[in-house]
Amino acid sequence: MGLIVQKFGGSSVANAERVMNVAKIVTDTYKQGNDVVVVVSAQGDTTDDLIEKANEINPNAHKREMDQLLTAGEQISISLLAMAIEKIGCPVISLLGWQAGFNTNSIHTSARIKNIKPNRLQAEIAKHNIVVVAGFQGINRYDDLTTLGRGGSDTSAVAIAAALKADKCQIFTDVEGVYTADPRKVENAKKLKDITYDEMLELATLGAQVLNNRSVEMAKKYGVELEVLSSLNPIPGTIVKETAKMEKMLIRGVTKDKDVALVSILNLQDTPGIAFKIFSKLSAKNINVDIILQSFGRDGTKDIVFTVSKDNGPLAVELLEDMLDNCKIVCNTEVAKVSIVGAGMESHPGTASKMFEALYESNINIQMISTSEIKISVIIDAEDADRAVSAVHKAFIPND
Ligand code: ADP
Ligand code: ASP
Ligand code: MG
Repeated sequence: MGLIVQKFGGSSVANAERVMNVAKIVTDTYKQGNDVVVVVSAQGDTTDDLIEKANEINPNAHKREMDQLLTAGEQISISLLAMAIEKIGCPVISLLGWQAGFNTNSIHTSARIKNIKPNRLQAEIAKHNIVVVAGFQGINRYDDLTTLGRGGSDTSAVAIAAALKADKCQIFTDVEGVYTADPRKVENAKKLKDITYDEMLELATLGAQVLNNRSVEMAKKYGVELEVLSSLNPIPGTIVKETAKMEKMLIRGVTKDKDVALVSILNLQDTPGIAFKIFSKLSAKNINVDIILQSFGRDGTKDIVFTVSKDNGPLAVELLEDMLDNCKIVCNTEVAKVSIVGAGMESHPGTASKMFEALYESNINIQMISTSEIKISVIIDAEDADRAVSAVHKAFIPND
């Protein structure tokens, strides 16, 4: 007996049959004597479809209106799931983000949760209702609807688990847990029994879509243990927590991120403070810069190359062209970032060379490298990305 938060992603509620399947999981948990709060995403591809509809009409629409539109997806799934639970015969109520007390900042389409006022949630739980909450959404100080960014329902679930000090937070999805690589793309990807918050945060940030990175950040901050598991196959999933066993693996996973643009500034006048001027200009426009490479100066000039997300590429170039003369600025969006993640690499020299060897043997050229204590990332041609992930995975993950 306890309080359990269960989150179901879009594919888990994609159609009537799947909604009934979720209702069964939720009501079984409730009938075992638990209080249950359920967070759901929009059905199937609903969010993508809504974005497409908006783009047909006005691709530059105000983000406030995008949020008005996108929140509708989750409104549909909470009410349908509540109806399914009612049909099974359990007491239930559905709540939109604002009704569940989600207060966010005002950055439309990627808002951050400021706090959750849990009064309504607590009152409904006290009435022994199963509470079904719309993921991915909240309300700002002006009473406007906001959304938390793609994949944001994971964060909604963790936020509720933290606010209510839940005993468990289960993230149900369409795979059986967190794997050493995307199991839909990489043969022999292995399911992990457990993984640390730090490793999961890196995997999620570097492209493993299975958990949203902000949800992992929040789970770590509030000590919410997560289980990632399948809504279709009732077997134990992967636990995300503070410490985890290494299971004889040097790395935990290999990821790919295609949302990368490589901006090069060539033949830049080599004057003191120029890097500061460039990067402060970009940060003033909220452009997040990832990997930075600077060449040695030669004949009074140097090159600076850096990566940003794809949609920030054109803006970065425009800003740089406005401020810099006598240099060449190019933006390449046909690149990808492939990374390996694992706390084990810190104590194992040779991890980087093993990764580079796997890429060399597949004839894949590395354009940039970046490392931290628990990850190594390389920038390569986008067309090589899938091959690179498979080759690196094969080099590191035993094929038992
Ligand atoms: P949901 O709709 O349940 O939120 P997502 O589509 O956001 O599900 O995330 C699940 C998907 O993440 C899986 O179908 C899988 O293809 C992908 N994925 C990418 N990397 C990994 C990984 N390392 N482990 C498990 N799944 C992964
Ligand atoms: N429906 C939203 C999306 O597709 C939120 C989520 O699925 O977590 O991004
Ligand atoms: Mg998701």
